[in-house]
Amino acid sequence: MARKDTIIKMRDILVRRRDALRKALAGDLSLLKQLPEQTGSDVVDAALDASQDEISSKLAEVESRELGNIERALQRMNEGTYGHCEVCTEKIPVVRLNALPYATMCIACQQADEEGRLEERRVNDWSKVVDTGFTDTNVSVNDFEMQ
Ligand SMILES: [Zn+2]
Repeated sequence: MARKDTIIKMRDILVRRRDALRKALAGDLSLLKQLPEQTGSDVVDAALDASQDEISSKLAEVESRELGNIERALQRMNEGTYGHCEVCTEKIPVVRLNALPYATMCIACQQADEEGRLEERRVNDWSKVVDTGFTDTNVSVNDFEMQ
């Protein structure tokens, strides 16, 4: 499969995952709001409710972190920078993206980061990045302003 097709397919998966997470988080929040009414005078019940509450908020934390990752990935897809290392701008191999859809760094930069020499690899010129194919389907605000 072409790289572009893989990314388009991945975008569909990410959008679906984002919607599911949003629903789950909305559900969690409404459950949390119901808690005060459910909590009786029994101390044990209150303790159980508290730990349940703790579990739900931990889950919500993980879910909202993933939601953030997904939204960042989708934003980068719209900008046409998805799949490029955000440090050195090199293409991240599709194999790596399939395993880690939210990867923002190539393996070399990831390693450099772990060794604390990430700044040596940083490139700030994004003008050479012209692929991913989303630029031709998305009309930017600038296009309207030109008319
Ligand atoms: Zn890199």
